[in-house]
Amino acid sequence: MSAQRGRHFLQIPGPTNVPDRILRAMDAPVIDHRGPEFARLTLEILEGLKRIFKISGHVVIYPASGSGAWEAAVVNALSPGDKVLMFETGQFATLWFQIAAQLGLNVDFVPGDWRHGVDPAAVEARLAEDRKHEIKAVMVVHNETSTGTVSDIAGVRQAMDRAGHPALLMVDTISSLASMDYRPDEWGVDVTVGGSQKGLMLPPGLSFNAVSDKALAASESARFPKSYWRWQEMINANKSGFFPYTPATNLLYGLREAIRMLEEEGLEQVFARHDRLAEAARRAVRAWGLELLCLNPDEYSSTVTAILMPEGHSADKLRKVILERFNMSLGTGLGRVKDRVFRIGHLGDFNELMLAGTLCGVEMGLAAAGVPYVKGGISAALDYLATAAIA
Ligand SMILES: *Cc1c(COP(=O)(O)O)cnc(C)c1O
Repeated sequence: MSAQRGRHFLQIPGPTNVPDRILRAMDAPVIDHRGPEFARLTLEILEGLKRIFKISGHVVIYPASGSGAWEAAVVNALSPGDKVLMFETGQFATLWFQIAAQLGLNVDFVPGDWRHGVDPAAVEARLAEDRKHEIKAVMVVHNETSTGTVSDIAGVRQAMDRAGHPALLMVDTISSLASMDYRPDEWGVDVTVGGSQKGLMLPPGLSFNAVSDKALAASESARFPKSYWRWQEMINANKSGFFPYTPATNLLYGLREAIRMLEEEGLEQVFARHDRLAEAARRAVRAWGLELLCLNPDEYSSTVTAILMPEGHSADKLRKVILERFNMSLGTGLGRVKDRVFRIGHLGDFNELMLAGTLCGVEMGLAAAGVPYVKGGISAALDYLATAAIA
């Protein structure tokens, strides 16, 4: 590959483009993590995170990738051999299932076609059959990053209530937090799993568990062995602004800046911006004559669009052409849809012109890679963006 100039377009659905303001905020001396300045930093961040997560309970911050927070949710809230209900919405649901199974949970993993979200009626049916209340948790991925499909978390909660079932509700929001509407307190979510490198606009390296009082109470009798991940120890230390072990200081500087940026824009405006850019991306895809992987318009993701290749064409070859010719990275097809699908990430620090550039790269790539498509995707997107109402 020859030397490339200009800014690289990182249009994978996470890690996302880190804004300069956050990079600058992180470029600061490390401070004493047992000193007073650090305590002020922690307390400001924890208060801010509660507003971002929309939770009155506790937010626990781990120096770990999102997978660490998946494991933390399991080992804190549950016990070995517990029965849990999970749904195969795509690759990320499958990975969380594998962690749960490897840890020793008894998982009812309901198969799916990777083109739909969780069906609340299926949740209700399974829970209604479980008269002895053996199922201890329903575990769902809110935004399935591998397919660009959203599950209706409020609907899942209503299904659990209709079945009169006391299971915990645990939700992965790693690719929807701070980009799409999500209300754990209102929807009765007990554990929310989040990560730093997507809607929060930070580099990879931090992840979160937002914990309800019910989940915290359940953790008192949960029997998985744990030490590093233990919520209670973290929550106790956090009360005075400290951590039980050395925190990722400079990522926390970045997190403080990210919270400020999200609140300057306003969370509802952040969500509306993502909705608008996602709709424009889908209009381009349709005009190109290509097919979205997500089949249900009510379940379209506002952070990532997964696009099926025409029969006989390789998604990875297209991505390679686009990377080499136009200096843009797109998301690869994962697991079952490898090489069949490519994904456009449109989340985080992202705007109209960045989307326009992204779509131009895709359209030029389709032509350069010899993929059949209809011209006009770009103008379909631009026409929409030019007239779409700004919240
Ligand atoms: C990115 C992502 C993860 C994985 O997070 P890592 O930081 O790679 O461990 C989990 N779930 C979803 C929905 C994601 O988008």
